[in-house]
Amino acid sequence: MSTILDGKKTSEKRLEILKEEIGESGLYPHLATIIVGSDPASQMYVRMKHRACEQVGIGSVGIEMPADATTRTVVDTVRMLNRDAEIDGILVQLPLPAQVDAERVIGAISPEKDVDGYHPENMGHLFLGRPRFSSCTPTGIMTLLAEYKIPIAGARAVVAGRSIDVGRPMAALLLNADATVTICHSRTKDLAEELKRADILVSAIGKPHFITAEMVKPGAVVVDVGINQLDGKLVGDVDFEAVKEIASAITPVPGGVGPMTIATLMENTFRATKERACERVL
Ligand code: NAD
Repeated sequence: MSTILDGKKTSEKRLEILKEEIGESGLYPHLATIIVGSDPASQMYVRMKHRACEQVGIGSVGIEMPADATTRTVVDTVRMLNRDAEIDGILVQLPLPAQVDAERVIGAISPEKDVDGYHPENMGHLFLGRPRFSSCTPTGIMTLLAEYKIPIAGARAVVAGRSIDVGRPMAALLLNADATVTICHSRTKDLAEELKRADILVSAIGKPHFITAEMVKPGAVVVDVGINQLDGKLVGDVDFEAVKEIASAITPVPGGVGPMTIATLMENTFRATKERACERVL
């Protein structure tokens, strides 16, 4: 029976600390979100982010754009927020509709306000081993592993998934923490064999119960990023009930990685606020 890596409890603790820090700082952080279209899941995520802002004392502005918005209008909105001195962090909720060029939109965000860490400049800093803003989900996972004192240096870490928002930055953060990292993806040969070597296994594939107990080394730490619907229930990529019997530690879904993502967004936003305040003083 494994330790449950409780992201809900850890994120609540982090948000309490952050609330105090913001209160004592004399600063008034502001986050702006942009959502294009009316995808219910995206709307729910954005609502949760605004709620967390309210909880910790971050002002938030939500910009809703129609589903048929063009790349130009979304980029113009980002640029307007870049110029707005009140705004410290800008978050564009992904995915964007097909006609909007996400790369151009992300590239238009001022790197100093890129609290989601997707801008190529911030990705570059991360891969150079000097992260400034790094993506909220993998950064939140690193915080959760640290909270439970999971040793990372020298561990064999396997990341399943190579997306820009999770898999790649996750691999970079683990490498920066001195793990020996393997990245697996849809073209990986003999995935099960690769996964079975992991001391730390992070799954960001997006397939319900894809990772079975047979793919996990006994005693491994298992982090489940997946958010999937199965028979009307929210489940991860990992067959939690079976894997928890052999892993040494495991994140639940829900209540694992998800809340850490939101807490990290709040932390990144306050970091952006502090850095911008320092720049004004210098
Ligand atoms: P994505 O679709 O962009 O990437 C999925 C990755 O999985 C790809 O790199 C692909 O190569 C890999 N993959 C697909 N099938 C595979 C297979 N059979 N074997 C090996 N690799 C395979 O998804 P994403 O944005 O990285 O998200 C992944 C999952 O994590 C989704 O369920 C998503 O909802 C969830 N997610 C959760 C959070 C959170 O805060 N908890 C944040 C972001 C994403």
